[in-house]
Amino acid sequence: MNIEYSRIGLKVGLEIHQQLDTASKLFCSCNPQLFKGEPVTTFLRRLRPTQSELGQIDSAALFEFQKGVKILYEATSETACLVEMDEEPPHDLNQEAVETALVVALMIKAKPVDEIHVMRKTVIDGSNTTGFQRTCVVALGGEININEKKVPIQHVSLEEDAARKMKEEDQIIRYRIDRLGIPLIEVATSPVIHSPQEAKEVALTIGRLLRATRKVKRGLGTIRQDLNISIRDGALIEIKGVQKLDLVALIVENEVQRQLDLIKIRDELKEREVKARDIKEEFVDVTTIFKQTKCKVIQKALEQNKRVLAVKLPKFAGFLKRELAPGMRLGAEMAEIAHFWGRVGGIFHTDELPAYGITANEIHELAQSVSKAPLDSVVFVADTLENSNNALEAVVQRAREAINGVPEETRAANLDGTTRYMRPRPGAARMYPETDIPPIHLKNEYLRKLRDHLPEMPEQKMRRMKKEYALNLKLAKQILDSEYSDIFEIIAKETKVSPTIIAVTLTETLKALRREGTNTEKISSEQLRELFSLIDSVKTTKEAIPEIVTWLSKHEGATATRAVEVLELEMISQKELERMIDDLLEQNRTIMKERGKGAFGLLMGNVMKKVRGRAKAEVVTRILKKRLKEIIT
Ligand SMILES: [Zn+2]
Repeated sequence: MNIEYSRIGLKVGLEIHQQLDTASKLFCSCNPQLFKGEPVTTFLRRLRPTQSELGQIDSAALFEFQKGVKILYEATSETACLVEMDEEPPHDLNQEAVETALVVALMIKAKPVDEIHVMRKTVIDGSNTTGFQRTCVVALGGEININEKKVPIQHVSLEEDAARKMKEEDQIIRYRIDRLGIPLIEVATSPVIHSPQEAKEVALTIGRLLRATRKVKRGLGTIRQDLNISIRDGALIEIKGVQKLDLVALIVENEVQRQLDLIKIRDELKEREVKARDIKEEFVDVTTIFKQTKCKVIQKALEQNKRVLAVKLPKFAGFLKRELAPGMRLGAEMAEIAHFWGRVGGIFHTDELPAYGITANEIHELAQSVSKAPLDSVVFVADTLENSNNALEAVVQRAREAINGVPEETRAANLDGTTRYMRPRPGAARMYPETDIPPIHLKNEYLRKLRDHLPEMPEQKMRRMKKEYALNLKLAKQILDSEYSDIFEIIAKETKVSPTIIAVTLTETLKALRREGTNTEKISSEQLRELFSLIDSVKTTKEAIPEIVTWLSKHEGATATRAVEVLELEMISQKELERMIDDLLEQNRTIMKERGKGAFGLLMGNVMKKVRGRAKAEVVTRILKKRLKEIIT
């Protein structure tokens, strides 16, 4: 469907969080790296909702707390110390991180604050051992330019990254605290973006600015974007954790579609004259109906003495299975909410039945037990009585919200551009001062020095690269947006290889290899430099690049020279090449007799196949033409 975004009042604001590549963490001297393998230490905590000075508590977190959820933290000694474990106060704010944030701020003409005050922001989902996240505003205001339009920036801040969730079991959530405390820069725009395409361009532009500092981490998981999206008549939805810039436009499109369809459902519910008070929290125990069921999920639940509870949603038939945006349905949203509040694995609803081994007969009995009319829907869950009750309460609540249209909530981004329910939107401004860290005064002299040495602006760099290396605009843009713009310039300066070939290799070739499953992130800058120096000195050819790169990705730390040896991709000497060509001509005498000069194409193909990139096409052509001429005449 073609949506005219300007007519539906779309407003998008972006918050970009990017990990900084500093030598240590934001509030201690730990190594800001993620560890693989087994943790050395684990420790258990209960969730502790901390009452902020404003007296507000996140209702969802409070709920989890009441359910007695425990958090198991995993750590190693290089990546975490007593600070991350909340056994020791934070050290001073990392100066390297402050400086990077200030550089970004000055690049976008934001105004640095006089004093940086570290604040605590209540976060009670266990992702911080302290129950809060430390954050500080470094600069206010500023703007970026997108196609002649000025997009205002609200603030540039520094934050500590949270622990990363590894696993969620029944009563225990596992987090690793290696990521906790890694410095994040946050850049937030005003909600003045009016189309998916514009949202993508803003994200790309900010991404380029951050990379221009050369102080940001690379790779998946190092950048996370939050989007605030609303349309007229819809609601303000916060979507968290978009990991790829390319997904921004799709996520906005999907969210708009989801809201438009929820508004449509609202209107149809109105036509059916459904009232919130008609949707009752009357849960019927229907366990006995499923005593002999063939449905595996229910069977398993009943073996564990769990119960099946059902609730009727009056006049909801058809709405639960209706697709909102691609891959998203109201029924699925109810399941996600039921999972959040009731910790149930999922819900069943009559819109999608019979299925999953549930028979028409069981549905019939179910309908009778809740007095279902044809236009009604029935939702049921199989779990402990407490979980089932909590889950169905949440389903009833969600159904009532459907009558009003779009409920405000926080959603999480999936990797395919869809989103899922995450939690209710937290209350505003749960911030209070971090008393363990003194404010930092920013001296004018220091700011002036930074201002005088700002990095090249991305726009300027692109124009320069285009001119200096004779790249076309598309390639200049691609290399700027890739992770390789610095290494490109180094290689282009230190070798005589054509800059276009270097740029194509670092963008398109690597991208194609990634698509085929090669882990190109494993390739170091050193390996790339060596590879091009081998091409420069004619030790191998550009045609051999994909094979060499693939091999290097599997042999961490190995040299490109070694790859060329192992793969036998050294250039063939002139003599050897001549011998190879003579042999081939000998074998193809008959064809040559029949076709004469017309045999060239076929023979050329054969030689190139045999040399596998170890000889330049021009050289092969020259020798082959010469020999052919000699033989034929
Ligand atoms: Zn530490």
